[in-house]
Amino acid sequence: MNVELLRDVKDGSQADGAQVVHLAQKPSRTTLSSWFSTGHETSIKMTEAILKRHNRKMRKRKKAIVDIDNTLWHFCDVLYERLKKINKTMPNPDYWTDWDFWENYCSKEEFICAIQDIQLNQDDERHLPYPEAKDFLATLKEYNYYIIIASHRTPASREQTHGWLVKHGLVFDEMHLSYDKTVLFDRSCDIVVDDSPHVLEKAVEKGIMAAGLTFPWNRHYANNGYTLLENLNDILSHILVYSNKL
Ligand SMILES: [Mg+2]
Repeated sequence: MNVELLRDVKDGSQADGAQVVHLAQKPSRTTLSSWFSTGHETSIKMTEAILKRHNRKMRKRKKAIVDIDNTLWHFCDVLYERLKKINKTMPNPDYWTDWDFWENYCSKEEFICAIQDIQLNQDDERHLPYPEAKDFLATLKEYNYYIIIASHRTPASREQTHGWLVKHGLVFDEMHLSYDKTVLFDRSCDIVVDDSPHVLEKAVEKGIMAAGLTFPWNRHYANNGYTLLENLNDILSHILVYSNKL
């Protein structure tokens, strides 16, 4: 309220504007209380309406569950370098045609330790995302997907993982680090992007569209109801076409 307006109100004179006319009428305490109450109720009703609209929008928003290793970055090459230090005869990723390829070359403890060593140092300068990863996630977000980055890894790597995602501009809404991401697969999920045949099959079982990058360890299962493609751009196009968003 400006100085002119305040003076008019103080004088009880009627200046321009409805607000001044009302104030100049010197309302009683009861009237003021009634005005305040009416305004307050209106405000609550407006807030409720906004919340309802927001909740309706959120209900419509579908979830995209996106993996990290061998989905957003080329984890297998770094793992191979690490595994070679345990056993020089370790075959390179071209020969990892079986999910449990490592069993003949190192112990389970050594294998898990190698993976955790990488993941606990996720935010390393050498661990770069695929060139398309940033746009892939940004476009999903643009199309109103709620993005859950879900990685099969120790929750102890949360800080490093979060730092890596943020550093490389990889957008997301939520991060899930555990040894069973399939607990996320429910009716609100629209898509699952992963390289693990087991995870992709679980998604298909739940009626969720599943896709991933093609690798030696999953290409033999390509007819199990999910789609394998060569890069994230192709996966993005597939998702948008499948979801009738293109
Ligand atoms: Mg993976």
